[in-house]
Amino acid sequence: MKALTVEPLKPASARWEEVPEPDPCEGSVLVEAVAVGVCGTDVEIVEGKYGWAPPGSERLVLGHESLGRVLDPGPASSFKEGDLVVGIVRRPDPVPCPNCAVGEWDMCRNGRYTERGIKERHGFMSERWRIEPEYAIRVDPGLGLLGVLLEPASVIAKALEQVAAIGRRSFWEPRTVLVTGAGPIGLLAALAARSHGLEVHVLDRVEAGLKPDLVRALGATYHSGSVLEIGFEPDAIVECTGVGQVIADAIQTIGSSGIVCLTGVGHGGVVTAAACADIAASTVLKNNVIVGSVNANKRHWYRAANLLARADRELLGRLVTRREKPGDFARALERRPDDIKVVLQFSDI
Ligand SMILES: [Zn+2]
Repeated sequence: MKALTVEPLKPASARWEEVPEPDPCEGSVLVEAVAVGVCGTDVEIVEGKYGWAPPGSERLVLGHESLGRVLDPGPASSFKEGDLVVGIVRRPDPVPCPNCAVGEWDMCRNGRYTERGIKERHGFMSERWRIEPEYAIRVDPGLGLLGVLLEPASVIAKALEQVAAIGRRSFWEPRTVLVTGAGPIGLLAALAARSHGLEVHVLDRVEAGLKPDLVRALGATYHSGSVLEIGFEPDAIVECTGVGQVIADAIQTIGSSGIVCLTGVGHGGVVTAAACADIAASTVLKNNVIVGSVNANKRHWYRAANLLARADRELLGRLVTRREKPGDFARALERRPDDIKVVLQFSDI
């Protein structure tokens, strides 16, 4: 079979190449790939900035936003041939730490977790892949190709669960949510927050085009420009850009007792002690919480599958803006102005 592989930490080493069939030790469920979403992490791995091959292997099969069709459910699973499934990305660390021991691998404390397509486990960008039945999530068959949005949706399911859990520390009836960044994660955050009946605002750099149109179609309000100019103090902010200025403005704009949930990963700049003291002072005086959220455990994947199953299909379909063939992966990794989610399509659905 063919797979998209890279030699981690070696730029320009990506190849669409012949590889052996998936190893049965990767799981008893055999799956035919339908589609795999492409995200910034994949771009970083291909650029040689990130990624680890499995032990004993020089190359890593890329891809963590999966969607596949069960070819052989194996002896010990409730799946049937033809079921649409998505593979959970992270596996608990081998120690395990207390969180991994109770199935909260998204909260792993020692960093020795592994991840499909990223860290020491082959990913899903191969014509066939295997998975342990307990790490496969069934997708509503009516979603078809849109099941490929389950991985980013799981990240949001966790982030919103964190916000809700923190909110319970005091009387908490949130009304307004600001989402910064109208990429796939931000738009899915807006969709999820709308499904909870919240007044949702989304901010992004662009002034026109697909992103503002989609935000309005979701029943949310679109803003461009600075967070400082949105004209109200949100009860919660879901930060999806990782841009320093946006994060700083979000912390300044959040309402009293509000929660800023950071999901974007950026870099750059020097943190001065004075700036830290200012953030701390405003956080103290307004009873704010700034929380980071990454990855997802099985509960979040399950919630995300329910969210997508209930969502408007036509609207969800507009999030997948480009489909490319696996052999044209270089094109899939390019960023074009109106791209939201680009997927590699391995087989018809
Ligand atoms: Zn752990």
